[in-house]
Amino acid sequence: MPASNLTRRTFVAGGAALLAGVVAGAGIRPFVAEADVLRPPGALPEDEFMARCIKCARCIDVCPTDVLEPLGIERGLLQARTPQLNFANDRCTFCDKCREVCPTAAIGAVDPQAPEQGRIGAAVLYEDRCLAFLETGSCGICVEACPYEALSFDVGRRLVVDEAKCNGCGECVRICPANVFTSFSGGKARGIEVVTERAFREGGAVR
Ligand code: SF4
Ligand code: SF4
Ligand code: SF4
Repeated sequence: MPASNLTRRTFVAGGAALLAGVVAGAGIRPFVAEADVLRPPGALPEDEFMARCIKCARCIDVCPTDVLEPLGIERGLLQARTPQLNFANDRCTFCDKCREVCPTAAIGAVDPQAPEQGRIGAAVLYEDRCLAFLETGSCGICVEACPYEALSFDVGRRLVVDEAKCNGCGECVRICPANVFTSFSGGKARGIEVVTERAFREGGAVR
């Protein structure tokens, strides 16, 4: 084998091994088929969204509530800088501005009053965090705050989410006072969270 071929092949193989090592070592997933990322309302299914999104950040820049932010590398290199919703910032008002500015039609139209036709995600409750579960009769702030009347109490005054009304706007998450520190890096978790449809199907409404 000519020395130049050996050198080139060795270089390519070495480069691939190095990239794999870096990816594995950093805990980065370069290819994620169905990521549990909350996308802008009306976003195409995840694989189609990823095929279209060019990471231009126009949607993030135009969002009036700043609920949209760019993903880091924690969900893989391909997803880095794509838009995700963070309800710690604010809620989505379904203003439609992100769809209007998207140059690749990665975001479509959505009717917040018809979540059965498509929604951001679904609200789920955590019994070990929600104050209404931990202490009967307490809290209920999110019930008052939900703009779509998707939250109520059952006879035991435990919280119930009406899945037919919840569109995943995130107001309940934003306003929940049960912030629980879950990591040394300062991460917080609410008593109620919005998760993707896939995560909802897998985990149910109460956890
Ligand atoms: S619909 Fe409006 S508020 Fe919601 S993510 Fe898009 S720009 Fe932001
Ligand atoms: S505007 Fe469209 S293409 Fe640009 S980052 Fe947002 S979703 Fe992606
Ligand atoms: S995400 Fe929360 S506030 Fe928004 S519709 Fe669903 S239950 Fe109501």
